Amino acid sequence: MKRLYIQTYGCQMNERDSERIAHVMKSMDYCLTDRIEEADLVFLNTCSVRDKAEQKVYSALGRWRELKQKREGVVVGVGGCVAQQEGSDLLRRVPHLDLVFGTQSIPELPRMVKEVESQKKRSVVIGFQRDASYMEDVEPRVEVNGPKAMVTIMQGCNKVCSFCIVPYVRGREISRSSESIIQEIRSLVRQGVTEVVLLGQNVNSYGKTSPGELTFPQLLDKINDIEALRRIRFMTSHPQDLSVQLVEAFAKLERLCEHLHLPVQSGADAVLERMRRNYRREEYLRKIARLRACRPDIALSTDIIVGFPGETEEEFEQTLEILQEVEYDEIFAFKYSPRPHTAAAKLYRDDVCDAVKKERLEQVLRLQNELSLRKNLQKLGAVEEVLVEGPSRHRKGQLMGRTRTNRIVNFLGEDSMIGRFVSVAVVGASPNSLIAEVLSEENVSEMIDSRGIA
Ligand code: SF4
Repeated sequence: MKRLYIQTYGCQMNERDSERIAHVMKSMDYCLTDRIEEADLVFLNTCSVRDKAEQKVYSALGRWRELKQKREGVVVGVGGCVAQQEGSDLLRRVPHLDLVFGTQSIPELPRMVKEVESQKKRSVVIGFQRDASYMEDVEPRVEVNGPKAMVTIMQGCNKVCSFCIVPYVRGREISRSSESIIQEIRSLVRQGVTEVVLLGQNVNSYGKTSPGELTFPQLLDKINDIEALRRIRFMTSHPQDLSVQLVEAFAKLERLCEHLHLPVQSGADAVLERMRRNYRREEYLRKIARLRACRPDIALSTDIIVGFPGETEEEFEQTLEILQEVEYDEIFAFKYSPRPHTAAAKLYRDDVCDAVKKERLEQVLRLQNELSLRKNLQKLGAVEEVLVEGPSRHRKGQLMGRTRTNRIVNFLGEDSMIGRFVSVAVVGASPNSLIAEVLSEENVSEMIDSRGIA
């Protein structure tokens, strides 16, 4: 068997794409390795959403030059958003690179690799497809990696947020058929998966470009009927597409976890307008209020960009205010950086200096740390259902899992608990996680029985 090494940058969507790359390359007898020095095929799966993405890729490729010098026949490829954006420039600038494959070209990989191996033919495939077939696996997915699985339900985006490169590197919105999604989830559940994360750039616009297809709330409804599946999550949503039906789904569907990531980006209407985010602060807050009326215990997370062109001190203050008003459980905050092709890069001068961006980012993170800690402290003494994911990354010798609200919980436990649900009592809190003690597993069954989803 030959060995494949993949380095993945970016989001869950890219992680799922890397799983698919490993899956398609199995057909050519490649198995995954985490030791790059023993790999016959090395791939970089890239993300271009943030600044310096291209430089990162070129410097990683520079480091990989000696792999080819040391071992003859090693094949090197770049995929993902930077590959889509740079295309044949990458091949031209990096002589030891063999393949460039775009965000919709994973099914092409076996053919491309074969051509390098047999004819030394270097190639670039970055075209956009017209239907969802590129998201489907040729062979059914057989390997599951723990109790949780990511399932891509759509890709691309039809919005035109002025800061965002996604529509240029992931293409227009395309949804997979609901039939194929349900089939995939049923098969995952048969293999022991108990939690699915539905992925897409804007999942709540699922089905909108496929006449006759289910809407996103209807799709959730169907997935909720799958017996033995315990948890459903999804990522990411645009506030404009958060429909009444989707809000109501949080009250109605017992398997749908009480957590929503709803990127607000800024608390100031003038900035939202320049960002071409087609909602305003009050409308966003009304949607949050409706969500909380339907599901009072829902946890909320968001994305924030600081230092967008023209952002004044007053506008920035409005972002701090919205954080205090909503009291998010978690945020992901970034300094604005112009991305190629985007409207903001063409229309506006990047006029907030880096020192100010840095200071604003620190203020946002400081405030959120206080808010998250306050929220987590309120959990002291609570009993939570946790799906155990594996060893804790930050607390040596402990296990780590997540509550239905997506909070990280660290606790002492047996390895046999990995992949299972346990009931824990919360005994400590930090801004980013909870510390807990395990109660008996029977308690979980009782908790689940009483919600009727066992
Ligand atoms: S909705 Fe999200 S993915 Fe689409 S353009 Fe806006 S920020 Fe980018």
